[in-house]
Amino acid sequence: MMRQYELVERVTSYDPDANEAMLNKAYVYAMKAHGHQVRASGDPYFTHPLEVAAILTEMKLDDATIAAALLHDVVEDTEATLAEIEQLFGGEISELVEGLTKIKRLDLISKEAAQAENLRKLLLAMSRDARVLLVKLADRLHNMRTLHHVKPEKRARIAKETMDIYAPLAGRMGMHSMREELDDIAFKALYPEARDGIMKRLEALRAESGDILTNIEERLTEQLAANGIGAHVSGREKKAYSIWRKMQRKHLSLGQLSDIFGFRIIVASEADCYKALGVAHTAWRVVPGRFKDYISNPKQNDYRSIHTTVIGPHRKRVELQIRTQAMDDIAERGVAAHSFYKDAADPMAAERGIRLPHGDSNSFRWLRSLVETLAEGDNPGEFLESTRLELFADQVFCFTPKGALIALPKGANAIDFAYAVHTDIGNSCVGCRINGRHAPLMTELANGDEVEVIRSQAQTPPAAWEKVVHTGKARSAIRRATRFAVRAQYAGLGREIIERHLARFDATYNKKQFGEAMRKLGVSSAEDGLAAVGRGELAAHDVMNALGFEGEREAPKRDIRKSRTVKQEGGVPSIPVRGVNQNLPLNIDASTGAVPGERIVGILKPGEGITVYPIFSAALQKFDDEPDLWIDLAWDEDSATSLYPARLRVVVHNEVGALGQLTQTVADGGANIENLQMTERARDFYNIDLTVEVEDVRHLNQIMNELARKPLISTVVRATGSD
Ligand code: MN
Repeated sequence: MMRQYELVERVTSYDPDANEAMLNKAYVYAMKAHGHQVRASGDPYFTHPLEVAAILTEMKLDDATIAAALLHDVVEDTEATLAEIEQLFGGEISELVEGLTKIKRLDLISKEAAQAENLRKLLLAMSRDARVLLVKLADRLHNMRTLHHVKPEKRARIAKETMDIYAPLAGRMGMHSMREELDDIAFKALYPEARDGIMKRLEALRAESGDILTNIEERLTEQLAANGIGAHVSGREKKAYSIWRKMQRKHLSLGQLSDIFGFRIIVASEADCYKALGVAHTAWRVVPGRFKDYISNPKQNDYRSIHTTVIGPHRKRVELQIRTQAMDDIAERGVAAHSFYKDAADPMAAERGIRLPHGDSNSFRWLRSLVETLAEGDNPGEFLESTRLELFADQVFCFTPKGALIALPKGANAIDFAYAVHTDIGNSCVGCRINGRHAPLMTELANGDEVEVIRSQAQTPPAAWEKVVHTGKARSAIRRATRFAVRAQYAGLGREIIERHLARFDATYNKKQFGEAMRKLGVSSAEDGLAAVGRGELAAHDVMNALGFEGEREAPKRDIRKSRTVKQEGGVPSIPVRGVNQNLPLNIDASTGAVPGERIVGILKPGEGITVYPIFSAALQKFDDEPDLWIDLAWDEDSATSLYPARLRVVVHNEVGALGQLTQTVADGGANIENLQMTERARDFYNIDLTVEVEDVRHLNQIMNELARKPLISTVVRATGSD
């Protein structure tokens, strides 16, 4: 058990002005009050409030909070009274203890109405003074750490409550270490087998990779130092629970589990964050689509950091979080990282007796807006709805027209909704009404939305949906449906190609003749033949010969290249580009990207389907002598509902803040950064290879114009694929 002087020393080590006499008094008072009480573990009861206080010293909380932690159970569990505590310790501490006492007996997992009322009380008590919340969370953390002493039935209930209420609450307040530990212990109690499986796999991976953690740490540090950046690099293994969540989300099996290490790079300044990013992206290959700039665009709970993934030393996929010490403090400790006003300086808060943390905290603003809701409404059901919905920030709750509740992860759209109701509904869904109004299927759903799915039996889900859905259920159903549809699509594509060749001879497609021609070529059916043409495995001119059309006719495809500005060739139908996905015969060439509104052509590649190129792509020259491979394509109107990649070459001044300006501008323009890589670095300028995801060419031009206007950005051009 921690000694009295140790606790006091801990507090004075970060707060030299702490009231030592008061802390000593609280220690002795609580120890005496709990007397010979024991915990389920057999330890003296006082070890519990003492450990809670110790957890809070790790968060460097003020003396009043530490005293309140020592005293948090005395009113409920001993002879002590609030009046006595007020007399001995003053109003500030007694109010904290009162808040903690009020919420002590709340049973959050109970009947709906009582649950609503309890949650209301809990949040009310916590939101008057954020320190009540911090003590309550530390209390829960210690109870979780000692959960194995509790009887199994009770254990599961506490673990579930922790996972449902306290862990999300800690997360919402930005306290990630706390959330992680709460979740992990609850996970162990609720799903011991799943956790064991993950731990075993981790052990195996650890044995396989040896001392790789330290090794990568060193390589990262060296690389940064070589570029003049002082950084503290630390690697760590991810927690079982977060791995499990990822497996659930991405439908991964244990065997597929590979990137289990995360590295944190702490640098001195915001500018250094971007410099470090530049170094990492120059030294190692970037994993596309994993770059996130939460420095320019902080999360709702104030979280700021840069995230990226590279193929790092030892060819290991390495997740990097780049941030400053201050950003790291906020990320780990959330609201607890803010110091607290001794006197509420916000007049409105003072009036309501609310204690605000110092500085600008989004999390606390959220808590305060809850208090205002509490003051206004007194319908507990309504309150529960709005609060739980807010609390579970990573979920949205929507309804069917009949009122059934469908819970989905945040970001989910109507397609996810349809699949969550039933696979058949997802597969046949063609449109939706959200709250009675027609809306695009990709619309991100909000809490409380009523979603009506419009169906058509003729529908097969487009493969591109796989990219836009957020739930594993929808993704796997789409993949299944797509496999069947892909063959049909290749066949359809093959037929388009054959029909266009036939059109040159003023002939039309005839299934019987085509089937016979296929037999001559040793292909068993017309359908297989068309699919083979579509996949590029069977050359169109061989088919034409087998059909009896000899000789060459002028191929209109050749004109595609010559007439760069022409809209469409007369008489030759172009193939509409629908979804673009790796399961489909269509792929967009990565060296340039292509976006709706840009003139495009397709090149048939045997076994790969069609690769889409913008007409200005330098790569097209390679195919000049192979007219049969050219396919005229046009964007389908549906294209507007997805995002498409466009690769840019950007030259920026080698100055502090340039990368930040770049990423901020792209984010402000409503586009995503799919990839960002420094290619060359000179003294004054450096080149950046940037792939953005945009809606169409107009959107792209807007972004390019905005970028070009920035003082630290020198030039922005579309990549042509020639370099
Ligand atoms: Mn307690």
